[in-house]
Amino acid sequence: MNTVHFTGIKGEIFPVSVSASASEAGFHLPFASKGESRESRVRIRSSFIETGLSFPVSVTGECEHPLRGCSMDLPIALAILIAQGEIEAGPFENAVVIGELSLSGNVRPVRGAYVAAKAAKAAGKAIFCARSNARECALSGAAVVPVDTLAEVVKYGKGLWKLPVAPESLPTRNGKALDMLDIIGQEKGKRAMQVAALGGHNVMLTGPPGAGKTMLARRFPALLGPLTETEKDEMLSVYSIAGLLDAEHLESPHRPFRAPHHTISDVGLLGSRPGRAQTARPGELTLAHAGVLFLDEWPEFRKHVIESLAGPVKAGKTILSSTTASVTFPARTALVASMNSCPCGGVTECHCAPEFIERYRTRHATDSFDIWVDLPRVSYREIKELSKGASTATLLEGIEAAKAFRASQPEREPATTPVERVARTIADLDASEEVTEKHIAEASTLTCPW
Ligand SMILES: [Zn+2]
Repeated sequence: MNTVHFTGIKGEIFPVSVSASASEAGFHLPFASKGESRESRVRIRSSFIETGLSFPVSVTGECEHPLRGCSMDLPIALAILIAQGEIEAGPFENAVVIGELSLSGNVRPVRGAYVAAKAAKAAGKAIFCARSNARECALSGAAVVPVDTLAEVVKYGKGLWKLPVAPESLPTRNGKALDMLDIIGQEKGKRAMQVAALGGHNVMLTGPPGAGKTMLARRFPALLGPLTETEKDEMLSVYSIAGLLDAEHLESPHRPFRAPHHTISDVGLLGSRPGRAQTARPGELTLAHAGVLFLDEWPEFRKHVIESLAGPVKAGKTILSSTTASVTFPARTALVASMNSCPCGGVTECHCAPEFIERYRTRHATDSFDIWVDLPRVSYREIKELSKGASTATLLEGIEAAKAFRASQPEREPATTPVERVARTIADLDASEEVTEKHIAEASTLTCPW
């Protein structure tokens, strides 16, 4: 019985086979942990009884990967039934099976279904899964067999049930993205985001509360353009492995925007290491892959958490290692952070001591951010008087034109300082081969002021 083993966001098909007998009591399967083995046995045994099947006294088996968690209940159950001669192996030869069993014999959804379905598709096999995993599996293009109960699958194994092999078609719906047009009076901020989107620069937004830092950050993913097919696949894989693939992702995959709270741990941000008893889980950085990670109140984050972030952000991936395994998750993530201009927030007149402000600003190293932009508060009167300014569509037009211009240019030496890097991006937006004084002048207003 084929099932799937996960490493990072990759799935690998492997067979589970067991022998069952009525003697020598025991459930000897190579589970990753004793607890998982015990719980799996309880669920499988109870499903057998509820379905009117006899559960063998002894189950033994070997396989090339340790069995993990609930996603392997259904394949193990079917392997036992084959060993007992209850069902035929033949009908399942061209299939991969995933699914948890409930105590009453219902098939429940599992994490990683999209990734498992991709592995099935690549091997030319169909995938049996819980009905609520079917839409996710169908996105892979594999032939999907949605099942509700163990009884159904048993009927199929006995040749008594015709399968409805039909990937459910997915409606395409484009949710309305947030538009830069909603932000009034922050044209410099919008321009900074345009430059950042084109040049792949990380952004620090400073300014008093209420100036629109979060609004601007939330509208940044749209400036990165539509997801490529590869990005879409990677994003769906990440969310599937994390167990976070919801209807919204399935209907209109869009670039992620993640904004973890400043109390987050390094595990929450970078992901959990693979262990004997658990698979590695992606953290917020990887959940923001192909999109935006927004760290609001940057100085409030714990120092070691921020320090652990710099390497993976630069490398575009995070490597989680333990003594038994090493797993790589993608993390090509645009980083946007925000902070108040000063620790008091600068809401009223500021009386902060210079050393105090200095300590606030330099709490974490800030060399991850090429672009710094200060957003002033815009008063209600000004909002009423100002025109709406740039929209996401007009900013995107500029980005697309600059990308086309850059593609026509010979390979360039990478610039070394933030000002040089940002000036080069601005020159591209200007369709200029040379970086001129005008570009450097604008760049120096968009880089760290201290
Ligand atoms: Zn202050």
